[in-house]
This record gives sequence, structure tokens and C-alpha cells, in this order.
Amino acid sequence: MKIAVIGAGMAGLSAAYELQKAGADVTVFESADAVGGRTLTRRQSGFQMDTGAIYVSPGYTQTNRIISELGLEQALVKVQPKMGFLRDGECHPLDLASPGKSFVKTRLLSFTSKLMLAKLLPRILKLWRNINFGNMGSLAIYDHESTQDYCSRVLNQELHDYFVDPIIRINMLNKTHASSSGELFWLLKSLGAPYIYVLTNGTSTIAEALAGEIEVLTGSTVGEIRHEADSVKLTYTRNDASMSQVFDGCIVTTPPDIALQLCPSIPKPEQTFFRQVQPIKHMVISLGLSRILPLQESTILGSEKESPNLLTIVIDPNRAPGRSAQGHTVVTLWMTEDWSRQLWDTPDDEVVKHALSEVLPIIGDVAGEVAVNLVTRSNYSCFKGYPGYYQNLDHYMRAKTRDGRLLFAGDFAGIGIEGAVISGQSAATDMIGSF
Ligand SMILES: Cc1cc2nc3c(=O)[nH]c(=O)nc-3n(C[C@H](O)[C@H](O)[C@H](O)COP(=O)(O)OP(=O)(O)OC[C@H]3O[C@@H](n4cnc5c(N)ncnc54)[C@H](O)[C@@H]3O)c2cc1C
Repeated sequence: MKIAVIGAGMAGLSAAYELQKAGADVTVFESADAVGGRTLTRRQSGFQMDTGAIYVSPGYTQTNRIISELGLEQALVKVQPKMGFLRDGECHPLDLASPGKSFVKTRLLSFTSKLMLAKLLPRILKLWRNINFGNMGSLAIYDHESTQDYCSRVLNQELHDYFVDPIIRINMLNKTHASSSGELFWLLKSLGAPYIYVLTNGTSTIAEALAGEIEVLTGSTVGEIRHEADSVKLTYTRNDASMSQVFDGCIVTTPPDIALQLCPSIPKPEQTFFRQVQPIKHMVISLGLSRILPLQESTILGSEKESPNLLTIVIDPNRAPGRSAQGHTVVTLWMTEDWSRQLWDTPDDEVVKHALSEVLPIIGDVAGEVAVNLVTRSNYSCFKGYPGYYQNLDHYMRAKTRDGRLLFAGDFAGIGIEGAVISGQSAATDMIGSF
């Protein structure tokens, strides 16, 4: 059984890993020069910069199973995420190791707002029982209005501006008017985590270890995938040369819009659903600084009200210790989609200058201490979880192609590393079952 996997992100690599364990002859095609996709860590001048995912949750059962199978437990560092929420220019910490105590004490929200939030607990607990990282289709029942409308109807403006909007921004890279209200309940689950994992040498350590077990062709951009009777023919470009290869089956893990372009004979369920997936496009700016910031927080969450162009600031010694030389640190800025689109074609140095001016009131002037900067432009950072998305997803998950030589995976059904891993594993199981 000769199988091609397109994309060396967590979905593709976990699919390839399972297929290989089942005895398949697997080749992974990856257009970038390195593996990891949206978990990519760039290492430059002594700085390790996560350009995508920053955390692995202890609740990621399948990801943690792979980590342990690969013998990577030593690379995991347990950290207590300390989030900072902005209000009137002040940063209010919330310690997720003790969320209850932290919420009671915080001056971020009024007593009335805290009470309102507490009243949501039964609903959140109900959803927790149905939570499935691999299928967010369970949110379909809460998918009829936007998070912003839900806040106006059930909560209040204060909760929306200083709490809900920031957590939608950091997790879904989205705005509340464009986010389905189900996402709020889903995300509140993450606030209960007493600790979280980071990887000593960067998040892409997992992808790199997986790639060590499998044949991966980096720098290979697939241009077309043709399903022909009992085989699948790939056309791809590598080192400026165009090549073709025939496989018994293929799993595609590119973003949905690319999958639509690559596969002229894409099955009907995928064709319908992938056309409904709207990508969020945004920029991540990684800064290697020659000093440490005098802040306690591991992440500072932006908001429409306080920092309209900024989604989040990730501060590394507090998030991921030991990532850079003594006295140095990495700070990562996630910018909004609107801001990113405006500056998309602007040279990197200019982009960095603009970004530094956005964070000046929050972290101070660090322009003179930037030793290294890296601008990552992502055409597909995640799907837009608009109201109606989860109903479409639920429909798709029931109809999706499971039996065939051409299958699809990715984090469109469950956001995050675990969603991608579960999707990859499930496609591998389906592919094996198709023979
Ligand atoms: C800024 C940011 C922060 C995040 N933080 C977290 C976090 O802390 N924790 C968490 O769990 N998740 C986080 N996520 C989400 C997580 O990174 C993703 O859900 C997950 O990595 C997606 O994996 P994937 O394999 O589905 O897709 P990808 O990682 O995007 O992999 C797809 C791969 O396909 C390749 N490809 C595309 N087109 C072609 C082609 N034509 N030929 C060959 N290859 C191609 C791409 O280069 C890419 O490597 C974050 C995401 C972002 C953007």
C-alpha cells in the first residue's frame, strides 16, 4: 500500500505515522522548507521563535500519546499560564492555576459581571461533557447567533469588552461579531487548566520527531491530485522541476481552499463543506530581544477596545523558560486580520515598526533592543467560526468521505494541535479500511 500525504503539519504527520505503523509505504509532501506547518519553530541567532502554536494541553490525549511514543516527555515543560487582560491601559492578571480565586480577586470585572459569569457555569459544564477536540460539530446547538449578540442578550458590555472579546481573539484569532456563540463556551473550558505544556526546543519538536520516522519531502509543492480508478496521481514541483508520481491512496491535509484547487475530482461532501470554510489571514511578528521584560504575564490579551490592531502578546521567559540566552527573550505579537491585510505587502522592517508602535503603550519601547525579527504571513491561520459554521461542520462530519483512495484531514473540524492530530489519525484509519 503506497500512500501520499500532502502537508507536514500535525494532521499530515500524524496520519503518516499511523499509516506507517500499519505497514504502509508513506511519502509526505511539504511545500515549506521545514516540517510543522502551524506549529513551526524558527531558530535564529540563539532565539527559538514559535511562529504558530504555543501550548500543548494536558487534555490533548492523542497528542500526548504520540509525545510519549516518541520518547519526548523530557522535552515537555509544565507551566502555569498567567494571562493579562487589559482595561484602561492597566494589565489585570488572571492565574489559570487557580481560576476561581483569581476571578474573585480581579479588579478587571465588577461584582455584577463576575456573578453573571458564574451563572454560566452549568451551561459550560454541560458542554464540557460533550467536548470533543476532534469534532467541534457539537457546538451546532449554540451556533445561531454571534458571540457579540450573545453578550448583548445574556451578559453585559463590560464582560464583552474586557473578557469575552480578548479570549475569542487569542483562541480563534477572530472578532466577536464574526464568531459563533458556541465558541465562548468551548473556550471557557480552557480557563480551567491548572497547567499547560510547552516544548523546551519549540513546538515543532513534535513534528520534527514524527518526521524522523517517516519519509518527508520538504520543498515539494503539490500542484494537482488526480484520482484515477484505483490510484491517485500527484504532480508536484521540487527544486524547480515538475514531477509526477502514482500512489494507491492520498491524504490531503492542506487548508481547505488549497485542497479545492488541488483536487479536480474532490468528493461532494468535501467540496460543499470546504467552500463554506472562510480562512482567517494574519501576521505573527517574532522579536528576539536583548533584554527581559519586567512583566509577570505569559500572554497579554488584546481587545477591540484597548488595542484594536493587536490580538495577543506572548512573553517567553514567562511562557517558555530557557528559550534564549541569559538576559535575552522572545516576544511574539499576533496581529489582527484587518491590520495584517493592510500591511501584507509592506516590507518586513516597516511591518515591525508599525507593530512596535501598537504595543508601545503595553510593553514599553523595545525598538532599541530588537536583535532579531521575523514576520510570518499566514494565508490560513485558522477557519472563521462564524455563526452557522458549526452547523455546516456537524452536517459535514456526518457526510464526510470515509471510504476511498482520496481522503482529507486538518484542523477544520477541531481547532488546535489535538484537532489536527485526531483528524489525521482518523483519515489514516479510514484509508487503511478502504483497502
Ligand atoms: C498563531 C497561532 C497560534 C496557535 N496556538 C495554538 C496553541 O497554542 N495550541 C494549539 O493546540 N493550537 C494552536 N494553534 C493551532 C494549531 O497550530 C493548528 O490547529 C494545527 O497546527 C494545524 O495543523 P494542520 O496539520 O491541520 O495544518 P498545518 O499545520 O497548516 O499543515 C498544513 C501543511 O500543508 C502544507 N501545504 C499547503 N499547501 C501545500 C501544497 N500545495 N503542497 C505541499 N504542502 C502544502 C503547509 O505548508 C503546511 O505545512 C495556533 C495557530 C496559530 C496560527
